[in-house]
Order: sequence, then C-alpha cells, then structure tokens
Amino acid sequence: MDSLETQPYSPLLPLDSVPAIQEVQATHDLSTWKESGIEEMRDLFTEGLLLTFPQFMETFNISQAHFLKYKAVSTAITKYWSSIPIEPNTTPSLHAILSQGASRKAVSAIYSTLLTEHTHSLNTLKEKWEDDLSAPLSETQWAQAKAQIKVVSRNMRLKFTQLNYLHRTYLTPHRLSKIYTTANATCPRCNQDTADFIHMVWQCPVIANAWKIILNNITDIIEADIPDTPESCLLGIRHTNKHTKHRNKFTDLALVLFKRQIAMNWKASKAPELKVWLRILLKWAIAEVKAMKEATGRECNPEGKILWDSYIQRLTIKNDIRPP
Ligand SMILES: [Zn+2]
Repeated sequence: MDSLETQPYSPLLPLDSVPAIQEVQATHDLSTWKESGIEEMRDLFTEGLLLTFPQFMETFNISQAHFLKYKAVSTAITKYWSSIPIEPNTTPSLHAILSQGASRKAVSAIYSTLLTEHTHSLNTLKEKWEDDLSAPLSETQWAQAKAQIKVVSRNMRLKFTQLNYLHRTYLTPHRLSKIYTTANATCPRCNQDTADFIHMVWQCPVIANAWKIILNNITDIIEADIPDTPESCLLGIRHTNKHTKHRNKFTDLALVLFKRQIAMNWKASKAPELKVWLRILLKWAIAEVKAMKEATGRECNPEGKILWDSYIQRLTIKNDIRPP
C-alpha cells in the first residue's frame, strides 16, 4: 500500500478504477452513485476540497442513508490521497479565484470578477460563440447567456455546468491535439476530424440526433414547443415572459442535465442514454419542487405547483415505460 500513498490520483479517474475506492466497494454497494452523477474522482470535490456530507447530499440529491458509504469513501481517499487534486475543468482565471478560498457565493463572485476584469476575454468568448452560431449575438442576448449561469438552477454543480458551457472549458480532442501532437483530434463518436467544442456539444451527428430526441421529450412533457437552436439549448437565450416562468425553469433544468450528461460522457463513443437522462431529470424535478417550497417557506404559487406536478407526472410515466 506504500506506493498508493504517493500515487497522484488524477481527478479525471473513474471512481471504479481507483484502488482505494475498489476496497470500499468490496463492502459497500456504490452502484447507485453512478446514476446520481458521481463517476469520477473530481465529482467528490468542490473548489479543490472534498465535499462535506451535506454538500454531497445537496449536490447529488442523495439521501442521509448514504452517510456510511460517504464516510468510507472519504476516509479511503484521505488515507491514500495526500495532495488535494485540482479540478481540471476550470479556466486559469477561474482557478485563481477559486484557490483564494471562494465561498458558497463563488459563482456570483467569480462571475462579477470575470465581468469587470476580463472584459477583453469575454469579448473574445462572445466572438467565438458568434463564429460557431454563424450569427451575431445582440448585447441583450449575450447578457441573457451570461445571466443563465445564475438562473439555470439553485444547485451549484449545475451552475458550474452552465458556466463551463458558456466558457467552453471542456478540453476537446481538437484542443488536446494542439497541446499534444500525439493526441487524436477526431471525434470519439463519429470519427470526424477536428472535433472542436461546437462539434462535441451540438454539431456531431450522433449528438445532434440525441438532442432531437431530448427536445421531443421536453416538448411532450411541457406540452409546448421550445426552440431547437444552440442559442436556446446551450446558452439559454430564449424568449421569456412571466406566464412561462415555470415552463422555462423546467426546460432549463432538463437542458442543463442533458448538457451535464454530455460532459460526463465526453469520451464515450455513443451519445448519453435517454433513459438515464429521464431518470435523473425526474429526481431533480422532485428535488426542485421541494427546494422551491423550502425557499419560500410555503407552497410555490398554485399555478406553478400545478405545472410542476404535471411535468413530474408525465416524467414518471415516461420513466415507467420500458421497451418490450
Ligand atoms: Zn462527432
């Protein structure tokens, strides 16, 4: 075991492949963790630190019943992993802010700093999006894309997913091949050359087809059409008014959970599975309603509650339909 103590575990390692976790798995069943989105070492960390149990429950929507498993895993990691890993999915500027000891309000703090001190890089970012969308973004649309980080969900982890999309922080095969000449620049799903960001998250035929299925399912559930554009799906730029507030909230949740699935299956040869997304969405929708009640100290407005209840009901039916 001595060699393990100094072994620098990569944050990107699947949990299953880490010896310390395998030891825990011998006595604890961690299979449901994967379904909740806990797949890699980095999922157990936030801002470079191991998630506390309350953070762990909140982030992954996991119940108190998992305390012993969490304790066994955190003990195992602390025992064998002396240096705390750095999350690789953050831009250098984000990491600099996070390492200064960002609080629970990290996202808005990071965000304000980015806005005031990184205007130049934000302009470059806007231009990159405009290139990919082959259309200019108005200042209002761009403001909406930036604000989407705050409104996408109450959950920090989902806010970070949206932040990572806006900032295009995921390492694409194309970018990797620029860094390492030996790295493969092709898409793991369709084998197309030059798999850049927009290819990986939208244009890849395999992913485009998955988006189509996801959008059809959302349309079924909310009984309304939503724009099938990257502006809407990736950046959250879409027409809203007070009458569609709850419909938009549900749509945002459904979309960001699929974006998270894409990111979590980044190197997979297939698109994320519909049934996994449906299951996760149901779980999060139920939690969202609960959080809404707690936040307001009472039931959310009756109109909103009826809508969310109908979405949850349709999702439950979809989840129960199994292929013959
Ligand atoms: Zn592809």
